Amino acid sequence: MITSVNDIRQAFLSFFEERDHEIVPSAPLVPQNDPTLLFINAGMVPFKNVFTGADKRPYDKAVSAQKCVRAGGKHNDLDNVGYTARHHTFFEMLGNFSFGDYFKEQAIINAWTLLTEVFGLPAEKLLVTIFHTDDEAASLWKKIAGLPEERIIRIATADNFWSMGDTGPCGPCSEIFYDHGPQIPGGPPGSPEEDGDRFIEIWNLVFMQFDQQPDGERLSLPKPSIDTGMGLERIATVLQGIHNNYETDLFRALIDASVDVTGRPATGDDLIAHRVIADHLRAASFLISDGVTPSNEGRGYVLRRIMRRAMRYAHGLGAKDPLLTQLVPALVAEMGGAYPDLIRGQSLVQDTLRVEEERFADLLDRGLKLLADETQSLTPGGTLAGETAFKLYDTYGFPLDLTEDALRRAGYGLDQAGFDAAMAAQKARARASWQGSGDASAETVWFDVKADSGATDFIGYVHEEAEGVV
Ligand code: ATP
Ligand code: MG
Ligand code: MG
Ligand code: MG
Repeated sequence: MITSVNDIRQAFLSFFEERDHEIVPSAPLVPQNDPTLLFINAGMVPFKNVFTGADKRPYDKAVSAQKCVRAGGKHNDLDNVGYTARHHTFFEMLGNFSFGDYFKEQAIINAWTLLTEVFGLPAEKLLVTIFHTDDEAASLWKKIAGLPEERIIRIATADNFWSMGDTGPCGPCSEIFYDHGPQIPGGPPGSPEEDGDRFIEIWNLVFMQFDQQPDGERLSLPKPSIDTGMGLERIATVLQGIHNNYETDLFRALIDASVDVTGRPATGDDLIAHRVIADHLRAASFLISDGVTPSNEGRGYVLRRIMRRAMRYAHGLGAKDPLLTQLVPALVAEMGGAYPDLIRGQSLVQDTLRVEEERFADLLDRGLKLLADETQSLTPGGTLAGETAFKLYDTYGFPLDLTEDALRRAGYGLDQAGFDAAMAAQKARARASWQGSGDASAETVWFDVKADSGATDFIGYVHEEAEGVV
């Protein structure tokens, strides 16, 4: 019987190893030689050049459990954490890859065999989406899985058509969903209620079969390829007979540690706090052990935002001493076996977290008091003035998303236009007070950076990210 997250990861790797796939260890979260991408956000990213043919490997089939972070750039799930049953900032993507070897039919056979025969999932709980024109996928799902028409849902949007960029490999994809049951709100994919947590996407199969030309024409690839991605935490949830990723054995261990240290049971609003903390602990720890340090720009800024969001929730639990740093041993106990770098980096991770937590504690305290005072005078469901949000950002180092999140939990909105105006006014003031050296363009850039970074902190990540996702 496969039960724990660690067992499920291993079962996936073994299943494909038995089918002649090379087990490739997870790449670090910081992309190697890819400045366009913030963090690795899908299992295929380390194989991008293999798919295009620019890089050759001694194998034509691979399997991996890849560390992923989606907390910035194009794929940002930060704001979902704490609110959906299925999103993390850090997660592991299980993937099998064919570089010109097997294609659509074998990919579907593999996925169906693993899910129904090895993992023992009941076929009637599974449904799939396909790209609306992909009749081949429709007939394969019928033939291989015996799925009826109504559980093969045709989708016309980009959700079911994957491309690496404006040109290059691309193709339709098919997402496999699990029905967690009618007791949970939510509708099937493509329906107006699809945003609930009843039907959860567990696995995405990408059929790379075209080569997109600069003029828009799609040529057929001579050797089509396969790229798949399954969220380990989501399949573990299904296999453990529960309905929320945060109830898996791995997350329970982290949340138990957080409950132990804070003395606050994981119920009601505190449950959300413990979940956010557990999630952000993973993201922050893996980022630090992969070489990211908190800073005011780029990757380090994203790390800082994640840490500060967790710290706000820790503060809400009444934690007086730095909390995250104390939870690292529980994380290492759960994940150090699969990721030995985490064991090697443990003291660095703990030190980095502690320093950041100590540094932010005081500002957080004062900023949250200000926010509480200001929201007190609002009517229920009211909107916080953009000026105030800007002051929190400028004086207390509160990233805007942290303020938004605090407001959202209390049922308030934010005057985004007012915030933008306050930011613009600050930039204008800074410019006006500067006597200047005559190089107007350089100064404009400098002031924008200074204003964006605020008196204490912060420059956002201003970068268009390349697509790097299954
Ligand atoms: P969703 O629609 O649920 O946000 P997605 O379509 O964005 O998922 P993909 O890019 O297809 O996800 O990634 C492949 C798989 O990785 C998904 O099928 C899912 O199992 C998992 N996954 C994606 N995003 C997350 C996340 N933020 N946390 C946990 N697992 C995730
Ligand atoms: Mg998504
Ligand atoms: Mg999806
Ligand atoms: Mg998907």
